[in-house]
Amino acid sequence: MKARAFSYFRAETIEQALDAHARAGDDARFIAGGQSLVPALSLRLQAPRLLIDITHIAELRGVERQGDFLRIGALTRHCEMLSEPLIGQFAPLLRAAAPFVAHPAIRNRGTIGGSVALADPASEFPAITLALAAEIEIAGPAGRRRVRADDFFVDLFETALGPGELITAIHVPVFRSNQRFAFDEMARRRGDYALVGCGLLASCEGDRIDDIRIAFFSVGNVPTRVKTVEATLAGATLDPARVAAAQMALEADLAPPESDEVPPAMRLHLARVLLGRLLGRLGEGA
Ligand SMILES: Cc1cc2nc3c(=O)[nH]c(=O)nc-3n(C[C@H](O)[C@H](O)[C@H](O)COP(=O)(O)OP(=O)(O)OC[C@H]3O[C@@H](n4cnc5c(N)ncnc54)[C@H](O)[C@@H]3O)c2cc1C
Repeated sequence: MKARAFSYFRAETIEQALDAHARAGDDARFIAGGQSLVPALSLRLQAPRLLIDITHIAELRGVERQGDFLRIGALTRHCEMLSEPLIGQFAPLLRAAAPFVAHPAIRNRGTIGGSVALADPASEFPAITLALAAEIEIAGPAGRRRVRADDFFVDLFETALGPGELITAIHVPVFRSNQRFAFDEMARRRGDYALVGCGLLASCEGDRIDDIRIAFFSVGNVPTRVKTVEATLAGATLDPARVAAAQMALEADLAPPESDEVPPAMRLHLARVLLGRLLGRLGEGA
């Protein structure tokens, strides 16, 4: 199939992009890497009359440290998560997740802004923004604002973005020397969307976990923090009994939906296995 005919506008500034969207109303879409939108157009799952190309907007590019945060421009491509030194130094969990996102050809074009805006519940980066306590920088008709990742993912493919709003950057608290992180996922084949995946970030005092944020993906309609599990681990030292308690507590936080591919009980089991592995790595100093 081919996409329905559409008009194209190349925006050079955020203001131009917002203005074009406001004039077209519901019938416009921003296009960044195009790795999700173009297939959707080709399959006619979406048929906007106007595509607004945001890839030439300089303000959406670049990675820089701003005080206690790393500002990652919305157009930062998945492959740059692997090559950008500031991300390796200050947001290593994002780097750890990047090789699991699709394949190199898609990572060369896909952007973090596009991934977070789309909010696919099986995607790696939306969940990682939760684990990192990131903030989403947004520009829209009513001005600019920042939304905590905890408040951003509302429902299936639904976010806090209002009509015509654009993600301009992701702000990530910089990684500290007392922190440890771990990431992994289970997929049928490398590069496939995960059956279940998880990223975690812990602040530690020696072997004791002071504070931990754990986010799962591919477990429901939205990327999901497992707060009961986090509470089970806060203030604890990781021994086998504590890890087992955390695995059991997952049931309170996750309710995987019915699916032909993976029954809920199996997905919960996989999540438990994955959590056990990641906590094991954390205990080894990951
Ligand atoms: C075969 C295949 C396998 C894939 N596997 C994975 C995978 O394993 N894991 C994974 O996470 N992803 C996967 N993807 C998706 C890929 O990561 C996409 O690149 C990403 O989801 C969207 O980023 P994009 O820049 O390409 O966005 P686009 O396709 O350009 O846009 C996607 C949506 O986001 C909106 N949008 C884009 N940028 C912004 C912005 N800055 N502000 C507001 N709205 C915006 C668009 O209007 C559109 O609705 C896969 C894609 C394909 C084709």
